[in-house]
Amino acid sequence: MCGGNSLSQAFALKPTPLANEFVKDMNTIQKEYPLEINICDDCGHVQLGHVVSGELLFSNYLYASGTSKVFVHHFNVYAKYIKSILKINKDKPLAVDIGSNDGTLLKEFKEIGFDVLGVEPAKNLAEISMQNSIDVINDFFNQGSVEKIIATKGKADVITANNVFAHIDDLRSVIKNSFSLLSDDGLLAFEVSYLGSVLEGLLFDTIYHEHLDYHSVLPLIGFLKDNGFKVIDVLLVESHGGSIRVISSKQQSHYKPSESVEKFVTQEKEKPITKERLNSFYEKIQIEKSKITNYLKTLKEAGKKIVAYGAPAKLTTLFHEFGITSELVDFVIDDSPLKQGLFTPGSHIPILAASSVDFNDIDVIFISAWNFAPSIIEKIKEKLRKDAIFIVPLPKFEVINNE
Ligand SMILES: [Zn+2]
Repeated sequence: MCGGNSLSQAFALKPTPLANEFVKDMNTIQKEYPLEINICDDCGHVQLGHVVSGELLFSNYLYASGTSKVFVHHFNVYAKYIKSILKINKDKPLAVDIGSNDGTLLKEFKEIGFDVLGVEPAKNLAEISMQNSIDVINDFFNQGSVEKIIATKGKADVITANNVFAHIDDLRSVIKNSFSLLSDDGLLAFEVSYLGSVLEGLLFDTIYHEHLDYHSVLPLIGFLKDNGFKVIDVLLVESHGGSIRVISSKQQSHYKPSESVEKFVTQEKEKPITKERLNSFYEKIQIEKSKITNYLKTLKEAGKKIVAYGAPAKLTTLFHEFGITSELVDFVIDDSPLKQGLFTPGSHIPILAASSVDFNDIDVIFISAWNFAPSIIEKIKEKLRKDAIFIVPLPKFEVINNE
């Protein structure tokens, strides 16, 4: 982020296959990659030590935003918020979403009067987006796609990028391209997982190969400034267990930074990201690991049937770091048809649709998609026996009775 080259390794999690590499055949041999966490000695930015190529990660992607009702609502509020602060008088301002997934956010922008265009490298998602009448360029966000947008639609008034900036190795070129694409009074808004929340909430399972960067506001402000932007707003948002939405505009634009920017800066200066802080984070993960896995083993030895709910990408890190295998968990239930019938990366646990499961037979639901725990419990509690239990591993290990 600062262009420095003095990196130190803070800790390393267990190597895993790619977090979204769900397989069709349980006998597939999957390559594992290191998960080393490095910190920049100059700016405190935290990033992975090993970069897996974007082509390998994102050309076929199984995470579709639209499958989660929580995200649809989140994006609805998001689009309205951006519209409320945008200082552009146009009938149809243009919103471009980088990594537009299945078009869920752009659909919300379209409904409130924007012209919209997505940029999405995953072919399967670009196709879903087109079926939903959201136009998309099926490519990475690079100079070529930016030129194509300007030539056909003109400059963008809003550029959004949600849970994609942490995925990009050459973020500098993406920011430069965003600068070329954005109109003078346009807004660049992105959501990234917030390192402060990851550390406070022990959200280590959000560390996987797609997430190259673990952002804090201070390094981001410097980085954006280097590239002609100023940060005008920072909001803490709840998606993925703790993210920030950073809104920035061109330096010469008329937007004034909100007080929240200064609040984040003060907080981060008071409690800086250091190697020691990262080390103690790692120690805490190991303590939780023994608590949770010992509990699961006790249940298994008592003959309980344990099933996981939710096969998000973060399951891969959680299961590998904790050593959770098919010996402990019989199967995983997931609501995404894209994942049903496949096996989890590395651990090769079958993924089933809720409709094909006999809930009467289950003693323990381990909620691997813990950020959706309340809605998952609400959805299935009636189907389960009264003596079944829920285990929520993070952000705090909890056992919840189904009564
Ligand atoms: Zn740095």
